[in-house]
Amino acid sequence: MQQTPFKLIQKNKLTHDVYELIFTIHESIQTEPGQYVLFLLPKSKLRRAYSIGYADGQTFTFIIKQIEGGAGSTEICSLEVGEELIGMVPLGHFVLKANTTPKLFVGTGTGFAPLYFQIRAMMDSGIQTSLLFLFGVRTASDMFYIDELNRIKKEYPMFEYRIFLSQEDSENTVRGRVTDFLTKENIAPYGEVYLCGSPAMVKDAREKLEANGIEKEKVFFEQY
Ligand SMILES: Cc1cc2nc3c(=O)[nH]c(=O)nc-3n(C[C@H](O)[C@H](O)[C@H](O)COP(=O)(O)OP(=O)(O)OC[C@H]3O[C@@H](n4cnc5c(N)ncnc54)[C@H](O)[C@@H]3O)c2cc1C
Repeated sequence: MQQTPFKLIQKNKLTHDVYELIFTIHESIQTEPGQYVLFLLPKSKLRRAYSIGYADGQTFTFIIKQIEGGAGSTEICSLEVGEELIGMVPLGHFVLKANTTPKLFVGTGTGFAPLYFQIRAMMDSGIQTSLLFLFGVRTASDMFYIDELNRIKKEYPMFEYRIFLSQEDSENTVRGRVTDFLTKENIAPYGEVYLCGSPAMVKDAREKLEANGIEKEKVFFEQY
């Protein structure tokens, strides 16, 4: 683990409260898909963890929700391009098992970030295996990175995704929660499951997976 300055080089607003922040670091630091950076926030003096949404050693992408009344997320989402902050990296054990086992990824909100990095890493490695990503948000206005998911699908026919909206009906989405999908029949093709999102979603998903015959050791998760 190293401590290094992260310089913000791009900031994009993805939805009404979610930002994509792209940082660069001086040296190259290798991370595993699923890991996170612990940022030391200079104004509030808080430490906040953010999952790496994509990294190539020097450029790091994060997907961060600005929480109303949240001091840490507001400080990081208010950074201007060119500003720097210290980050500790790499951290975390929620890492992808780079094998050929078909994988199910289940993410809600910004829990999208580490799963997206894991899916891209699988794709880039050329491993031929089925991957299904279930992405849950509340409404269509909370969706992001759909073009990126479609790009992966085009390049990698063994990848599929479904979007679940818990609070409204909308085109090309499923009305309901990601956990509704986790029936015995639906999960049967997958040997490993990666979960990231709220503690409530992770708990519900783990219970359903276990009840439907997926061994605990095959379920990996990060919750926040
Ligand atoms: C390993 C790890 C990886 C993480 N990765 C990401 C990431 O990629 N993107 C990201 O946006 N966040 C991520 N988080 C969450 C992040 O670290 C902060 O907890 C989050 O940004 C809130 O911090 P805050 O200081 O703004 O809010 P706080 O001041 O800590 O909390 C303010 C209020 O918001 C509530 N709250 C906290 N988190 C949430 C939430 N997620 N949704 C709704 N309400 C909330 C709190 O209960 C509290 O009432 C991660 C956390 C961990 C542990």
